[in-house]
Amino acid sequence: MIKIPAKVMIVDDEKDFVEMLSLRLKEMDEKVTAAYSGQECLEILEKDDIDVVILDIKMPGMDGIETLKEIKKRFPLIEIIMLTGHGSTETAVEGMKTGAYDYLLKPADFEDLMTKLEGARKRKEEHEERIRKAEVKLLLRKVGEI
Ligand SMILES: [Mg+2]
Repeated sequence: MIKIPAKVMIVDDEKDFVEMLSLRLKEMDEKVTAAYSGQECLEILEKDDIDVVILDIKMPGMDGIETLKEIKKRFPLIEIIMLTGHGSTETAVEGMKTGAYDYLLKPADFEDLMTKLEGARKRKEEHEERIRKAEVKLLLRKVGEI
């Protein structure tokens, strides 16, 4: 089976972490974009087509939760995986209640990340497919009404 690359954005203020993770994801043939703040993440989302955002919770300025809420408000179909330290698991749970797909504890285990990334991508695909089907149904009903 041909693997369709996920369009992933990593958002974290730790530059080394972003670079390391970008490289590893590119090795797995994913399409990777990086942002170093919540603000930069939102600017990129305005112009680029992204499937999954891997989002650090602790960032200076706009933090991960604020960024998550803004992403979900503006781009509800984008899936989000949060990155959290041991101290902020509660925040991660709060994030999932706000619409994040899942969370990962830092330093993220790569296999675990890949599994969650695949799950997030699949959920987005299925969601979009259901919307397409609903749109077709709606269209057919309208045609029937003419
Ligand atoms: Mg951070």
